[in-house]
Amino acid sequence: MAPTADGGVRLVIRASGIVQGVGFRPFVHALAMRHGLAGFVLNDTSGVLIEAEGPAAEAERFLAALRTELPPAARLFRLEVSREAPLGRAAFEIRPSEARAARAVPVSPDLATCAACLREVLDPSDRRHRYPFTNCTNCGPRFTICRDVPYDRSRTTMAAFPMCPPCRAEYDDPSDRRFHAQPNACPACGPRLVLRDRTGAPLPAEDPLRAAALLLREGRIVAVKGLGGYHLACDASNAATVAELRRRKHRRGEPFALMVRDLDAARRLALVDPAEAELLEGPARPIVLLRRREGAPVAGDVAPRQKYLGIMLPYTPLHHLLLRESDSPLVMTSGNIHDEPIAFRDEDARERLGGLADAFLTHDREIHIRCDDSVARVFRGRPMMIRRSRGFAPLPLRLPFAFARPVLATGALLKNTFCLVKGNLAYLSHHIGDLENLPTLEAFEQGIEHFTRFFDIRPRAVAHDLHPDYLSTRYALALPPEVEKVGVQHHLAHAAACMAENGLEEPVLAAAFDGTGYGLDGALWGGEFLVVGPGVFERAGHLKEVPLPGGDAAVREPWRTAVSHLVSAFGGDLPDLPFLEEVDPAALDLVRSMIRKGFHAPPTSSMGRLFDAMAALAGIRIRTTYEAQAAIELEMAADESEEDSYPFDLGENLVVDPAGTVRAAAEDVRHGLPAATVAGRFHNTVARMVSAVADRLRRRRGLRKIVLTGGVFQNTLLLRKTAGALEAAGFEVFTHHEVPPNDGGLSLGQAVVADWRCRCASPCP
Ligand code: ZN
Ligand code: ZN
Ligand code: FE
Repeated sequence: MAPTADGGVRLVIRASGIVQGVGFRPFVHALAMRHGLAGFVLNDTSGVLIEAEGPAAEAERFLAALRTELPPAARLFRLEVSREAPLGRAAFEIRPSEARAARAVPVSPDLATCAACLREVLDPSDRRHRYPFTNCTNCGPRFTICRDVPYDRSRTTMAAFPMCPPCRAEYDDPSDRRFHAQPNACPACGPRLVLRDRTGAPLPAEDPLRAAALLLREGRIVAVKGLGGYHLACDASNAATVAELRRRKHRRGEPFALMVRDLDAARRLALVDPAEAELLEGPARPIVLLRRREGAPVAGDVAPRQKYLGIMLPYTPLHHLLLRESDSPLVMTSGNIHDEPIAFRDEDARERLGGLADAFLTHDREIHIRCDDSVARVFRGRPMMIRRSRGFAPLPLRLPFAFARPVLATGALLKNTFCLVKGNLAYLSHHIGDLENLPTLEAFEQGIEHFTRFFDIRPRAVAHDLHPDYLSTRYALALPPEVEKVGVQHHLAHAAACMAENGLEEPVLAAAFDGTGYGLDGALWGGEFLVVGPGVFERAGHLKEVPLPGGDAAVREPWRTAVSHLVSAFGGDLPDLPFLEEVDPAALDLVRSMIRKGFHAPPTSSMGRLFDAMAALAGIRIRTTYEAQAAIELEMAADESEEDSYPFDLGENLVVDPAGTVRAAAEDVRHGLPAATVAGRFHNTVARMVSAVADRLRRRRGLRKIVLTGGVFQNTLLLRKTAGALEAAGFEVFTHHEVPPNDGGLSLGQAVVADWRCRCASPCP
């Protein structure tokens, strides 16, 4: 029915998205008051139902404000509005939720402490002064404490803490910032801190937080229980402590993340542009990779050979208080040994971290779901996720198209995430880890179980990698027969992920560069030029294959791949290069014979491995201690102002041969040119290679859009140069932003391809 003649109207509004437990109803209530409207708001099974009546002009202003002035934690996915005749209501009320309120209502990600809560924590006259678990509807834990849906206190790990009368009054008051804030707590009724020694015995301390801060200042390592798991913390300016942490964690070389007190403290360590500041200070609070300042006051061992420092700001009151007690930045690295998942249960943490930490700063609020810190950087003024986890997961990505049926995608091996898609919402999981041990597999299985329940998704198809031995593949293939199994080639999935987040549905070119992915022919792919779209998948070109002597051993020993590329470029007579003198002659002979005979030396077209080879050749590194270390250090070493490049051969059928590149680089090294020059020229070469191949394909296929994807494109120097070269040649370039270019984003692409298959093969329910 249309509005009545006197101009009054009743808006009936259905809002779906993240609208429960985020202060949405009080916000609507306040908005209705402001505009003098009557009616009600309530939570129902699809989100929030609002009826608001009054003068038509006010009602429309109310509607406009509803769209634009959301509370910080709320997200609108859909707003349906109808205009009806007013019923003559007199007041606006918040009505009780419908009994079966919403399974499908998404759980919000964990949110950094808001400014209002921080003010209370720092205010000596406030009842929450120095209370480390202060939160409100705009901030605090969500996903990590959630046991089940619908999201309310009884289904979170806060169920163990009955609210005291003042907290209960806040919780029940629609005008209060803590109205229905499920984790609401105060010193009288909420969780408490405790300091324990390495065996788990409580240490007497009047103020555990101050005592922990003192230990940190004295150079001790403290395990700190945070939002999604334990961190190992220590004073980042203390070289001896940082070295000791490396020794205990068995972590050689891989950079540690830092937490600093505030933006000013971050600026003392690194250059921070406005987009980076926004990312640092935003409610998700990821670790942001920032360009390190010359002479930044942190131990060199925090991030050896890096141009960047991974820096985050405090995201819980506990962190704020701890950083305010410390004079210097803290290393805050995940609480684990080597490749194991981060510890998050207290028992487990005591067992596994007892040998790593001198003390535990812990508390009695349980973490239900482990969630690692997210990692991001800024590329061309926009965030680019490297690891999308705490603060982002389980927020769904909105796709520009709706899936034909619900799909689960299980990801690959390294940096695993899984993805569940229903309609146009893609729930990309938190970071699970390298899926190669039992604890990680358990986290993977539990994660899938949580997500299917939280978002009420029963997948009809499961997409998986083609590698038969990945645990993610085996999990998928073991699902019941009624769930259709869809194997998706690794680099196709990378390209589809980048397309999906950029809203591309038509066929495009893709450069998919990474370490390794299982190819259609069973070979190790990784330097791929593809034509990709719904129902379209063509390997249009690729890096020429070389043998990878020793398979995985070559990943840890880049000198092997360098020798392989040298043999490919020079034949039997290797040039004299300094790095070869560092290699044991017997090992060198063995590797050369493996290459000659093709024994235990699978062919690979990997671009990541070519980066490794160049790093070894340039004398940067012949052995690695963490994944992609040599390639990363090649990026860090590169002279960014270098403009020259090396030759390469586009070859028959775009099988690109880098032999000329390797010969020219070897020549430079023999002439004593610095590694920075060689690395810079190599980056330029790869950029030109992509643009040359793309140009050929454009002429042949008429395609002028290209996606750049795969772990190699985490390298922002390469990304900048490649995008620049392509744009100069008239291409439209698409890169990753919300979804990592590495295997952390792969599951989204797998799901998308499973949907393409469904839409292209007509008999689909
Ligand atoms: Zn707050
Ligand atoms: Zn209380
Ligand atoms: Fe990959």
